[in-house]
Amino acid sequence: MAALRIGVVGAGTMGRGIVQLFAAAGHEVLCYDANGDAAKAAMAQVLGLLERNVEKGRMTRADLESAAARMRVTGALDEFAACDVVIEAVVEDLAVKIELFRKLEAIVTNQAILATNTSSLSVSAIAAGCRHPARVAGLHFFNPVPLMKIAEIIPGLKTDGAITEKLRALIVATGHRAVVAADQPGFLVNHAGRGLYTEGLRLLEERVADVADIDRLLRDAAGFRMGPFELLDLTGLDVSARVMDSIYEQFHQEPRFRPSPLVPPRVAAGLFGRKTRQGWYAYESAGTAPAQSAISGGRERGSCAAEQGAAEPRNAERRNAERGTAAPAFRVWIDPAADEGSAIAALVAAAGGDVCGSPVNVDLILVQFWGGDATGYAQTQGLDVRRCVAVDPLPGLTRRRTLMQTVATSREARDVARTVFAGDGVGYTIINDSLGFVVQRVLAMIVNIAADLAQRGIATVADIEAAVTLGLGYPHGPLSWGDRIGAQHILRILDKQLEASGDPRYRASPWLRRRAACGLSLLSPEPER
Ligand code: NAD
Repeated sequence: MAALRIGVVGAGTMGRGIVQLFAAAGHEVLCYDANGDAAKAAMAQVLGLLERNVEKGRMTRADLESAAARMRVTGALDEFAACDVVIEAVVEDLAVKIELFRKLEAIVTNQAILATNTSSLSVSAIAAGCRHPARVAGLHFFNPVPLMKIAEIIPGLKTDGAITEKLRALIVATGHRAVVAADQPGFLVNHAGRGLYTEGLRLLEERVADVADIDRLLRDAAGFRMGPFELLDLTGLDVSARVMDSIYEQFHQEPRFRPSPLVPPRVAAGLFGRKTRQGWYAYESAGTAPAQSAISGGRERGSCAAEQGAAEPRNAERRNAERGTAAPAFRVWIDPAADEGSAIAALVAAAGGDVCGSPVNVDLILVQFWGGDATGYAQTQGLDVRRCVAVDPLPGLTRRRTLMQTVATSREARDVARTVFAGDGVGYTIINDSLGFVVQRVLAMIVNIAADLAQRGIATVADIEAAVTLGLGYPHGPLSWGDRIGAQHILRILDKQLEASGDPRYRASPWLRRRAACGLSLLSPEPER
């Protein structure tokens, strides 16, 4: 695309990244900050980052020099008169942004585009202060801008469609993916990201497992780069708490986004995460130190019974040794409804156990189900809750299994389960009774929120998928993840949670329910009208 003149107002964390992105992409960039020193410091930092790119062979020195020649700091907004596009990245304050755009409108040409990098304010509200709201749009980048290869374009209610298309072309030419999101709270990425945090916190509230176990399961069993508590520590709980509260309130207390009562006391106590060296985990130093042991969560509050790790085969081996025979060490009944019945039977046999044809007089009853909890399942099936352990059937759990105990699972039954799954070659985590294990619940919430994004027309299916993989770094887009698991399974998890908890946060999106009912892929295009 032809080189443009791009103005950036605000040279903080985001403004610097925006300057770097567009200068490296061949545009002329003019940068202004109310604090002149901040603008100069920003330029020096951007040059330093480009220099590092040269050292790492990602950029030639000639390219660095031409990019440097295209970047300029100004102390006067009037110099933006010749800009084709002005992007503001100033403080997140509606009045300040409106006032800035008013000033800019008096300076730029009628053809110039005014874009805001706001992350939480309504683009339409910012545009409402302008004489020409049709040329105002949201252009929401993520930190660090050059590395987070996605930008959301948010047309306000009065934005001209041609402006959206021009911004899309501008973003695509930088190598970033452009997604278009409606002017709704959280736009697309921050809205889609609610599920991981809110359901993670909900699991902790219910003491299904502790902080480290929930994070570990979501990393190892689901493939997230970080679990919700590691992410909250990275972002800072003070910042995340504000976002959680704001999106909840802006959606008029939508129960799916309900913040957790576990959070405010932690914010008040200054347990923000890495930056205060104490959050859900303890850190040796502020900033980038790796997480140490979890200092809070179920264990901190006392008696969380969840366990994790590779098992030491205790009772079963002991019993074998005591008997001094090759007789089966233990007897297991596997629910015929279990998805992985034959694989589990092989594990039982390999551990020296007997698979029995009846659940009577056995040491362990193994069940598998979608949605619901172990106690409820055992009771509806007439099984002995003291012998029962549930195994999460979620496909793709290649690096960690989840075993759920009932409220009454005996130590002996749990020990036998440990012996069986120690031979699985992957770790396992034993959790307390939960309406849908850990990973099932979190993924069902993520898929349901994505379905609701599609239902509300906040973005297209393709843009939802891209926003979640590029903006949130999840291993799969939420709707293709739903397809992998099976929309009917997702629906069942949600319905069982709703039925047992009565909490409307688990109500399934009609968009999901209809597609599940028809066996349609969640990636199928919307019907034409
Ligand atoms: P920041 O505090 O790092 O930088 C803001 C800069 O704007 C400061 O240098 C300040 O001097 C300058 N400024 C304030 N008022 C000004 C004015 N009226 N005119 C000119 N300059 C002014 O903030 P940030 O983190 O870069 O955030 C900027 C915007 O980007 C906010 O709207 C924020 O919500 C949004 N955003 C931030 C992130 C993030 O991760 N930090 C991500 C996406 C979007």
